[in-house]
Amino acid sequence: MLKDQFNRKISYLRVSVTDRCDLRCLYCMEENMVFLPKKEVLSLEELYKLCSTFIDLGVKKIRLTGGEPLVRKNVISLITNLGKHIKPGELDELTITTNGMHLKKYSDQLFKSGIKRINVSLDTLNHLKYNKITRWGNLDKVISGIMAAKSEGLKIKINTVALRNFNDYEFDNLIEWCGKHNFDITFIETMPMGEVQQDRNKSFLPLNMLRASLEKSWTFNDIKYETSGPARYLYCNEAGINVGFISPLSHNFCSTCNRVRLTCTGKLYMCLGQDDFVDLGEIVRTSNNYEKVNDLIYQAMLTKPKEHDFIINKKYLKPSVKRHMSVTGG
Ligand code: SAM
Ligand code: SF4
Repeated sequence: MLKDQFNRKISYLRVSVTDRCDLRCLYCMEENMVFLPKKEVLSLEELYKLCSTFIDLGVKKIRLTGGEPLVRKNVISLITNLGKHIKPGELDELTITTNGMHLKKYSDQLFKSGIKRINVSLDTLNHLKYNKITRWGNLDKVISGIMAAKSEGLKIKINTVALRNFNDYEFDNLIEWCGKHNFDITFIETMPMGEVQQDRNKSFLPLNMLRASLEKSWTFNDIKYETSGPARYLYCNEAGINVGFISPLSHNFCSTCNRVRLTCTGKLYMCLGQDDFVDLGEIVRTSNNYEKVNDLIYQAMLTKPKEHDFIINKKYLKPSVKRHMSVTGG
């Protein structure tokens, strides 16, 4: 079992299989993004070997993310190979976070590979707003993808970034819609990662305010629902679903962090909100020496910081970290 210097067990790996995406969400990317150099991107076989190394070292949960994981060519081969590790003593869960644009095409293959739960990002149910926030998205395509995934038997959680003056009048509507379809929903605070054209200081909405506003319309019960992720969950009695809150800025959750993040070029980040990384990709590309990779992973754990330094306020207009969320995955 991997442990860090603060005795936190590291059992969860998030892998950004590509930093590229077919959308350009305003809070996530600039319209003209500069992506990681293609020549440094690891092959799917190399990513698989790295993931297997983590499984050998005790990682129990892997989430594939990005960028948009489903735009990476042949990504299903990686998912199928990783799915074979879902068994006692190896992987407890393989899952994916997606923008939903390609779910209709891939839902059956995701389910067959052993994935049981997926997260789909959806910030609004309003077509005009959806076009605005994603720049290039197609809400109808996403909804039909979500419904295809539901009929396939995949359990769905909707991820919604809470944005002031954008979707703050829609939260009740989103909960109602999720309740109708039996999807859980998690609200997320916008995080200061990478330069974007949106002013995060203006769009940031602390989730304690969101929760207070939800409590005017809904009743919630505290529950012990754990997904090994950062969200804290409440059960919404009227909608009959779990409502999660990921609030890295207004309520720091770092003391229970169990995650590390691998980029598609093989950089291992110990924290979403810090710049330090260990380059496993360099060894994979040059020597294929997985014993050295093993040693480096152990050393990397000792450098996992205590917490992130995310700040959003009028005095700090610069992102806390230069890289966008898509490099290390959400
Ligand atoms: N493309 C996929 C998607 O959108 O679900 C997976 C990658 S995306 C980076 C993962 C999650 O991060 C999404 O739920 C997205 O809304 C969220 N996200 C992206 N940039 C963010 C930011 N700056 N702050 C908070 N959440 C962000
Ligand atoms: Fe793409 Fe996901 Fe970022 Fe939107 S949030 S631009 S879908 S990576």
